[in-house]
Amino acid sequence: MSLYPWQHESWQQLQSYVVQKRVPQALLINGTLGIGKQRLAEQFAYALLCEKPLLDGLSCGQCSSCLLIKAQTHPDFMVIEPEEDSKTKKPKTSIGIDQIRMLMGKLSLKPQFDRYRVIMIQPADALNNAAANAFLKYLEEPTERTVLVLVTHRMNKLPATIKSRCQKFTLPLPDKSLILPWLEKRLAGINAEIVLNLAQGAPLLAMQYASDSHLEQRRDCFNTWLSVAAQQSHPVIVAEQWLKLPETTLLFWLNSWVIDIMRYRYQLAPKNLYHIDFKLPLSELAQRINVIKLYDFYDLLLKSRGRLETPINKQALWEEILIAWALLNRE
Ligand SMILES: [Zn+2]
Repeated sequence: MSLYPWQHESWQQLQSYVVQKRVPQALLINGTLGIGKQRLAEQFAYALLCEKPLLDGLSCGQCSSCLLIKAQTHPDFMVIEPEEDSKTKKPKTSIGIDQIRMLMGKLSLKPQFDRYRVIMIQPADALNNAAANAFLKYLEEPTERTVLVLVTHRMNKLPATIKSRCQKFTLPLPDKSLILPWLEKRLAGINAEIVLNLAQGAPLLAMQYASDSHLEQRRDCFNTWLSVAAQQSHPVIVAEQWLKLPETTLLFWLNSWVIDIMRYRYQLAPKNLYHIDFKLPLSELAQRINVIKLYDFYDLLLKSRGRLETPINKQALWEEILIAWALLNRE
């Protein structure tokens, strides 16, 4: 597992910390979801631990330190991430105080080898309040030769106090001309541009959209949404069908359809559309829809995102959205 082809420039910047001997004690790698931040963070960690890094600064993969990493037994490397819930067997949503306490116990001792010790925290926005506070105390008095690498795509969820104590490093969205050929090589029978637009330029997210039945489900769902607009499907029945779909994905589709309609409304040839394969129906909607009411509908979708995080009746939520959508189209 090496760097992705769009990460070389970022790698050189990280390398300059090493070359200039200013490796930060806490590095916060951020950027959009699906561009390989974790891979970059791992490579940086491995390189700091490696005994004989290669010319480009990457780890050698062969020294005793690299072998310990491969065996997942390196004493100076730790990854802190949400633990598995013993009941559901799924990862929890947060990193708890116990995990950070255990980490602090280890960090109070010196690194075992004479190179760096690296701790990765991912996603850093998963630190709950108590964990973040404990962590903050450490950041005020960090141990020697220890580098914390925090990874997040949701900077706004991280406490400002933590952000201010980290060196921020943003992995930029890669250039489309660089990713399209990369994607095309990996996708058989799927239009790379469609998935890349849907992922708004994030290549790994595009790969995810290209796998399983994402595109097919999106199309089915879009057709149903159009038929609700045409008063041909009943909102209550559709809401019931939608209960089977992953809710955040569904809400993302709804949001992005509305955003695309707005883009059509205000620009003749809009750029960065999410759904380039739905151009015709979306531009037709943009021509006839009442734009003020469309904003109200968009508001309802934004509020729904927050409400999905609470224990609500999801059938009722989809009904509310679909009824509002049907009414908006009845005028
Ligand atoms: Zn090595």
